[in-house]
Amino acid sequence: RLVLVTGGAGFIGSHLVDRLIKDGYRVRVVDNFSTGRLENLKHLEDNPNLEVMRGDLKNEQDAREAVKGADAVFHFAANPEVRVSSISPRVHFEENVVATFNLLEAMREYKVKEMVFASSSSVYGEPEEIPVDENAPVRPVSVYGASKAACENLIHAYSKLYGIRAVILRYANIIGPRLRHGVIYDLLMKLKKNLDELEVLGDGTQVRSYLYVDDAVEATIIAWRLSNGNYEVYNVGNEDWVTVNDVMNIILNELGLSNVKIVHRPVLHGVGWLGDVKRIALKIDRLKTLGFKPSTLSRGAISMTVKALVRELGF
Ligand code: NAD
Repeated sequence: RLVLVTGGAGFIGSHLVDRLIKDGYRVRVVDNFSTGRLENLKHLEDNPNLEVMRGDLKNEQDAREAVKGADAVFHFAANPEVRVSSISPRVHFEENVVATFNLLEAMREYKVKEMVFASSSSVYGEPEEIPVDENAPVRPVSVYGASKAACENLIHAYSKLYGIRAVILRYANIIGPRLRHGVIYDLLMKLKKNLDELEVLGDGTQVRSYLYVDDAVEATIIAWRLSNGNYEVYNVGNEDWVTVNDVMNIILNELGLSNVKIVHRPVLHGVGWLGDVKRIALKIDRLKTLGFKPSTLSRGAISMTVKALVRELGF
């Protein structure tokens, strides 16, 4: 079976490619290398089961070429920078909504009947209570979250109209080797430049759940294989949650730093930027009914990620 992974040169996408190749699938990657890196797939360079196509899903023709001949589509291409979406909403509309629409149209044309979509916990916005289950209202507060919700709805309509079996995965913060965005990467890059002072966006009390990328990939494969509805939504997160200050302390601890001056930069109600969410964590009971269990809790996942990124970024 030929499986298409959009955004397969990116962080989660490349780990998913590793797993699909290991499981014996033929894999085609389409990526425009905006944030993705060929280096993430370098170890598979000579693997005959991997085909890498440079293409941009905002372009209809590229989307058609990517989809042609595929049996299933894992749609992971997106602009993942939530912060940028408040500054450049159009970029997110195009990278996420237009690209997804082009992909769905290509799937309709070539009669591809399976799709797994990388959605996000940001579709929930600022829930009154955490953790939230999949029935919580979809009330995004960032254009990124809104674009993911729009994609989910488009996929829902296509699944009903054209018989596409769709699995929607609402990921919490996914972290691990090859990560190049988000709070852990941001803090490490700042420390790499200056070990004396560290700027933390927000008041540090923002709450998040962190899941190691291997667990996220395992959850993805389990949901794809075992969900049997026509359109199913799953939260993919960890069973606990921590604050941004906890993340900062784990990083400082891993690096053996104790004299760094911390400067918090809160906006509005203590968040890091316009569109940032103060508290979010996901209930994962539905995923657990399929047999999923995270192998590492948030703190362990953060430590492992810091160790990996310190090696990759050359501290
Ligand atoms: P990433 O930036 O590493 O991966 C995105 C990939 O998509 C990159 O390789 C990029 O080059 C590619 N891409 C972007 N626009 C494209 C286009 N128009 N055409 C072709 N390729 C394009 O980010 P990631 O963290 O690996 O995220 C993967 C997916 O998971 C995204 O859809 C993201 O929104 C979603 N997600 C990630 C997280 C997380 O914590 N990492 C959480 C929730 C959802």
